[in-house]
Amino acid sequence: LLQLSVPLNFIGFVYREIRQGLTDIEEMFDLLEVEAEVVDAPDAKELHIGTGALCFRDVRFAYDPERPILKGISFDVPAGKTVAIVGPSGAGKSTLSRLLYRFYDIQSGSITIDGQDVRDVTQKSLRSVIGMVPQDTVLFNDTLAYNIHYGRPDATEADVMAAADAAQISGFIAKLPNGFQTMVGERGLKLSGGEKQRVAIARTILKAPPILILDEATSALDTHTEQEIQSALDVVSKNRTTLVIAHRLSTVIGADEIIVLKDGMIAERGTHASLIASSGLYASMWSRQREAIQAEERLREVREMD
Ligand code: ATP
Repeated sequence: LLQLSVPLNFIGFVYREIRQGLTDIEEMFDLLEVEAEVVDAPDAKELHIGTGALCFRDVRFAYDPERPILKGISFDVPAGKTVAIVGPSGAGKSTLSRLLYRFYDIQSGSITIDGQDVRDVTQKSLRSVIGMVPQDTVLFNDTLAYNIHYGRPDATEADVMAAADAAQISGFIAKLPNGFQTMVGERGLKLSGGEKQRVAIARTILKAPPILILDEATSALDTHTEQEIQSALDVVSKNRTTLVIAHRLSTVIGADEIIVLKDGMIAERGTHASLIASSGLYASMWSRQREAIQAEERLREVREMD
């Protein structure tokens, strides 16, 4: 009985937190940590961040021992560079980002940041250097200013406005009658997926973490929104070690390396140009996506003519 009541209480606690709007995705991870098997090693040290170089070595991982998800993945994200992970749905792309955040421990291999294994450092120090722009941002039931300020509570108002500017959301905010004081969330203004993502980007720009994980939304965006988000992402990932879980072409093209995951292994890797030239899985994914986008654009044009 005791075993059952604890998790139920815990779920109730998380639920209330969400209802009260006290929770965003990073806090959610911290909350879930309570039930997760991942704990700090007894002699865990503070992570000493240098240039922020990431190294995945022969990483093997399964949520369920019967079903391996990652079967020996090795790649580096050199300091300040951007690596994009692409591949079919379910290939394990988001799993890689969860492992870097040490939401789960790997079965074998290693993940290091500036030479320090993520299992040897405190989770608090690990998570303080990683900024996460998740697929679906949960905003606080509070003002836009509060939601951005949260990235770095000691930031000035001018910093908050500069971050909103860099995230390409300040134009939108300026048109609202209450501007930065507009209430958002459940009881406030409902923002679109793209707007919410830009608020999350502004928050991350303010936090200025040395390492960034961008988990792109799968949902299709119109070309204009996609361009706005892309230029916001370019600002936030510039000179910052960035791992992009990519679903859209625009983010992938500029990456220093693209890793194509398939069935838990790296099927191909290289730059956009080299992968296109080799006419493999990436090249076919790319032409399929491009056809889909062109078809969508034609459809939009036809609708606009009506
Ligand atoms: P998508 O492009 O659809 O987002 P993905 O490549 O990011 O997919 P992951 O989210 O990493 O895929 O999931 C990889 C596999 O692991 C999937 O088959 C998924 O069902 C499984 N999986 C993900 N999370 C869990 C979990 N918490 N417990 C058990 N299995 C999981």
